[in-house]
Amino acid sequence: MTQAVALIVAGGRGARAGGDLPKQYRRLGRETLLRKSVQAFLAHRQIDAVRVVIHPDDAGRCADALAGLALLSPVFGGQERQDSVRLGLQSLAEIDPELILVHDAARPFVQPALISRVLSALSAAPAAIPALPVVDTLKRAANGTDGGLHVAATADRTGLWRAQTPQGFRYRPLLEAHERFAGCTLTDDAAVAEAAGLEVAIVEGDEDNVKLTTDQDFRRAERLMVGHDVRTGSGFDVHRFGAGNAVMLCGVTVAHDRGLEGHSDADVGLHALTDALLGAIGAGDIGSHFPPSDERWRGVASEVFVRHACALIAQAGGSIINVDITLICERPKILPHRPAMRARLADILEVSERRISIKATTTEGLGFTGRREGIAAQAVATVRVPGD
Ligand code: MG
Repeated sequence: MTQAVALIVAGGRGARAGGDLPKQYRRLGRETLLRKSVQAFLAHRQIDAVRVVIHPDDAGRCADALAGLALLSPVFGGQERQDSVRLGLQSLAEIDPELILVHDAARPFVQPALISRVLSALSAAPAAIPALPVVDTLKRAANGTDGGLHVAATADRTGLWRAQTPQGFRYRPLLEAHERFAGCTLTDDAAVAEAAGLEVAIVEGDEDNVKLTTDQDFRRAERLMVGHDVRTGSGFDVHRFGAGNAVMLCGVTVAHDRGLEGHSDADVGLHALTDALLGAIGAGDIGSHFPPSDERWRGVASEVFVRHACALIAQAGGSIINVDITLICERPKILPHRPAMRARLADILEVSERRISIKATTTEGLGFTGRREGIAAQAVATVRVPGD
């Protein structure tokens, strides 16, 4: 026998969140709010089945968002939230579960312990909701004579609680209450149960179980709750000395008795750095983005390559934590140019100089750098990207 079913309400149009996508189909990290919410209930050992109530226009979106999950088939909701819940409840008549949990798809951070608290309370009460006491002082506002908002009164917050979901009920009494009060546009299911005279117990809510409504809610959730990955990439490059009287290193012209040979400006430091940045986000290497066979890149300033890698990191929602470049040569002397190089890289990478390290070493006269045949560079880049 099916004991407990979760009904996830996802029929809203979500106009307040902006954009053309209903908010429950927006992604946080890789997954939509709807999928995150559904998974929370599928994973709970006391929930036997999950059904989603959707808007008829969203059938395709819903199928994409919930692909591969073992759910009851979704049902279409109605004009108002209360209509959607009623239709969802009626669709479960054949299953006739003992308990029903009604949850807003826009609360993707619901924790198993909260679901358990609501279910536990249902052994002693016909209805139970998670809620948190109001701690802020409540003001009633009104338009002042100057047209701006003014405080008209301070409301008494004693005994006031903020209701969350999932709200839990014995199934039959809730179904009957919803059928009896159809069309009353009550804002949550506890209000429907209250109207029917059912006693609604309160269990402790969870501050993290927020409802994402506005764009600002989404940005805060992305910042605080999605988390991030820290990723590292490495790069290495070599250019051979040739004719010339200066070399370009880390975006700075350094006088020398030779030049560096290469297709672009042969800035070995920026080439190694570009590969490190690309490597950190798994975006190939400098040759795959700027093939040496392409005449467009002949003589080009290598900061173009670095800026491209930075743009790809930004596109991935990432940011640079730090970079560390080591230039390997006997000559020219690097250290006198280090401040200029760091300043130049801070400008190109759009990060503070504190996040940029440039080091130099020789190979004690050994190998091709020791024989002063060319310059080698290696680089490490660390970036922060949104978590999976
Ligand atoms: Mg190169």
